Amino acid sequence: MNTSSLETLQQVFGYDSFRGDQQAIIDHVVQGGDALVLMPTGGGKSLCYQIPALVRPGTGVVISPLIALMQDQVDALLELGVRAAFLNSSQDWRTSRDVEQAFLAGELDLLYVAPERLLTDRCLDLLSSGRISLFAIDEAHCVSQWGHDFRPEYLGLSLLHERWPDVPRLALTATATTVTRREIAQRLALDDAPHFVASFDRPNIRYRIIEKNEVRRQLLAFIQAEHKGDCGIVYCLSRARVEETADFLCQNGIEALPYHAGLNPAVRAANQARFLREEGMVMVATIAFGMGVNKPDVRFVAHIDLPKSVEGYYQETGRAGRDGQPANAWLAYGLQDVVQQRRMINESAGDDAFRRRLGAQLDAMLGLCETVTCRRQRLLAYFEQTIGPCGNCDTCLEPPQAWDGTVAAQKILSAVYRLWRERGQRFGAGHLIDILRGKPTDRIQQYQHETMTVFGIGADLSEQAWRGVLRQLLAQSLLAVDHEGYGTLALTDASRAVLKGERTLMFRREPEKKVRSPRSTGTAKSKDAIVLPGEAQQRFEHLRTWRSEVARSHGVPAYVIFHDATLREIALTCPQTLDDLGGISGVGVRKRDAYGEELLRCVRG
Ligand code: ADP
Ligand code: ZN
Repeated sequence: MNTSSLETLQQVFGYDSFRGDQQAIIDHVVQGGDALVLMPTGGGKSLCYQIPALVRPGTGVVISPLIALMQDQVDALLELGVRAAFLNSSQDWRTSRDVEQAFLAGELDLLYVAPERLLTDRCLDLLSSGRISLFAIDEAHCVSQWGHDFRPEYLGLSLLHERWPDVPRLALTATATTVTRREIAQRLALDDAPHFVASFDRPNIRYRIIEKNEVRRQLLAFIQAEHKGDCGIVYCLSRARVEETADFLCQNGIEALPYHAGLNPAVRAANQARFLREEGMVMVATIAFGMGVNKPDVRFVAHIDLPKSVEGYYQETGRAGRDGQPANAWLAYGLQDVVQQRRMINESAGDDAFRRRLGAQLDAMLGLCETVTCRRQRLLAYFEQTIGPCGNCDTCLEPPQAWDGTVAAQKILSAVYRLWRERGQRFGAGHLIDILRGKPTDRIQQYQHETMTVFGIGADLSEQAWRGVLRQLLAQSLLAVDHEGYGTLALTDASRAVLKGERTLMFRREPEKKVRSPRSTGTAKSKDAIVLPGEAQQRFEHLRTWRSEVARSHGVPAYVIFHDATLREIALTCPQTLDDLGGISGVGVRKRDAYGEELLRCVRG
């Protein structure tokens, strides 16, 4: 063995030292061991297989479901001087043939392959004729049938173990509940492999969950106040909502693009490429977008619909701030989200066990939304990790009050009860609130609901407050969306205890003041921390302009050339020689040789 892992890290990638478990994982794989690696998005999984692939003889084969991103991944490695290539269906046969020959000739350090391609006879034969240093199974949670990214092709990957029992296999994922972890280990025949579980905390991401009223306006206000000109992702549940939200943002001067599975594949690919290549783009997307997108400078991830599970939510928000700089995760959620999702679960195909599982996932998500304690504590508890209050989420920064909602809950539950018992009727949230607030609408008159004893008994609370009560009752399953599919509400077994006064209910009340923007809080984590002193800022802008030109001429995203953090460090420290440059994080030997002189000129100019 000629070069050590640490030397490879420093010379090829330009980083000083390993993070967290990287060293242990890499040592283990270099020595030929299998492993299951669980790290949050942005935790640094790629190096865990890239470095062993460089250190061990042969080619590292990376299995990734993300054909559209392979080109960028390979380009980034080529920029570092790593001999990388990919095989997938987007290539013509000539290119594939060249890649195959390079592999057979032992001229590749890394080869990326999509699972469906790998499982073809032709590809298996090819791999058998060359030398393989390791298999890296990226996005390994795609093997989980219960998960949100299930890919049937992944199930075929257990064959790697049978065919190449001596080649180390490394499965990597950012999804880490015990259930998923066990399922991955079992399906990929990794039962004996050690599990490396990193901390899932992403301290630079500020978590915030707000009450939804006019969500598009709220979103716009958030972006305008805190993220003007920043790159971000907005997640929605449906295609129609993606389209209308992207249009709305564009009409209001925010550059936004839509992304969902209903778009023509060419348009989708073009939008993704623009998001990766242009600065300050906002992608409005369904959850079909984002897996494997490793753009480091996404400054915010916003959800305007309630995500279906904490696991999915954490992966999606993890796409913000991979560069370690401050970033925001923002979610707006309201009564309608709960009604809609409970209804979708009732109507979903699949057996009871499946529905129960969806229900449990939703309950965990609702628990996070309604919590009066630190959001991050809740999030990490979901991954069975404990921390103290984080100081960087909305509840830590501006603690909400809890209020005794027992009487309010009794009023609304008894309205539901009486409607059903006395009249055999069920209604949705809006009408119930009208009854309680004593509002003489046409519908109230039509059904003569003004004659009910509960009519007007809730005039003391605003409509908004009642929606909050209903939402929290639904969140705690003290009310249910009935099975007929109209979003009407019914009591549950648990409602009885509240009606009988056997249970006290404490609800979350939003603080009057909204959480101020990171810009105005002036904490060490605020955005201001990124702004450089006068001249350095100028140098930084200068370097960025240079970078865009290089990126454009190479046809790669700007961050593939250098990350912002690297340019910032150069702008601040003003390196004078190539040696000085080599000491900067993110400048490896290859990049120093290729760009060093130009960088020095930029700094002097
Ligand atoms: P993941 O695949 O886990 O989401 P990546 O492998 O893309 O994360 O790494 C996230 C970011 O952290 C990348 O920009 C990467 O270059 C950087 N990084 C990873 N390991 C180190 C390290 N040891 N030192 C400095 N930067 C690192
Ligand atoms: Zn917190």
